[in-house]
Amino acid sequence: MTHSFLPWAKPNLLGNEKAMLIDALESSWISGGPYVERLERELAEAMYIDHALAVSNGTTALELALRGLGIGQGDEVIVPGFTFVAAANMVVAVGATPVACDVDPETWLLDASKIAPLCGPRTKAVLPVHLYGNVADMDAICESAGSLGLAVIEDTAEATFSRYKNRFAGTLGDVGTFSMHATKTITTGEGGLVVTHDDALAADMRKLRDHGMNPTKRYWHDVAGHNFRLTNLQASLGCAQLEKLDEILADRRRIHASYRARLKGVEGIRLQRFNAEVDPVLWAMTVQLTDTRDLETVRARRDTIMAGMAEQGIETRPGFYALSMMSQYECLPSPHAMHVSASIISPPTFPGLTDAEIDRVCDRLIHCLNATKQG
Ligand SMILES: *Cc1c(COP(=O)(O)O)cnc(C)c1O
Repeated sequence: MTHSFLPWAKPNLLGNEKAMLIDALESSWISGGPYVERLERELAEAMYIDHALAVSNGTTALELALRGLGIGQGDEVIVPGFTFVAAANMVVAVGATPVACDVDPETWLLDASKIAPLCGPRTKAVLPVHLYGNVADMDAICESAGSLGLAVIEDTAEATFSRYKNRFAGTLGDVGTFSMHATKTITTGEGGLVVTHDDALAADMRKLRDHGMNPTKRYWHDVAGHNFRLTNLQASLGCAQLEKLDEILADRRRIHASYRARLKGVEGIRLQRFNAEVDPVLWAMTVQLTDTRDLETVRARRDTIMAGMAEQGIETRPGFYALSMMSQYECLPSPHAMHVSASIISPPTFPGLTDAEIDRVCDRLIHCLNATKQG
């Protein structure tokens, strides 16, 4: 039996992407243009948020949010110790210092109870990152941030259209950021989004996105801004994706349910915990080894399992390294973050992944788990 290659992620481009892209091209509006405005309007409406700003990617979305809030030199921003690194990198990029906060051992997301002890006179914001489709405990985070006078920035790159108490992730704090990279739930190739309910913040961010230029006085720059704009070509893809939003979300729900049903009760692993308030749009399925040995042993076993999956053409991804493991961030160790980092594997997750393919992935995973069982 030969095994076809199963990628870890793949964009769903089965709608009007090609027609709308050609339309944008033929219109000659290839930088800014009407698809950008349409995408912003449609995303704002879909998420019940006042302002949505399309930007060049999910990383510049974070930089724009931080700059919009006035965060810079000498400031500190609390970020999860377990995260994709863009949040920490953009805190560094604006001249501030990321401070790693440990994560909840079951949801793997920023633990609100650990914010206050990390907060000092220079702390300006807390930046929860909603990983894999899950949403952090936003009531507790916003309450803690409110009492400490911190702004809340949600990195929602992996939780687009996930909900918390029936409100969309990214719309719960002061500002939310999203990615539209090829692997993300809605894609424009490269692309990002910043959302807020705050009119003044939205105006400041619009200005910063466009060189800091005064909107009524061409070539007069009120602040030293940047170019964070998305192109009309890219936005056309996003508009086509939104036409199929319901299908894309339904397919991710099916995949999540299939994986959960198939992996429920499998010995040696546990799944990410989603609290009752969260209605997730799964971004990437994950499993965690329950192996209790030391972290380097667990990490080595995890890597062996990933290699065993790859042998049969199944691409997987490991957990992110904890921030504290990479010296440039100068973060104190976060024990739960380090444990999650060493022990999780993410199998293929993308719209169109069939139930038969999910069976194939799970069979192989169970085989590899048994073959590397703790002695
Ligand atoms: C993908 C991702 C980003 C970065 O988005 P890009 O569009 O690739 O720049 C930021 N944060 C998280 C959590 C991500 O998963």
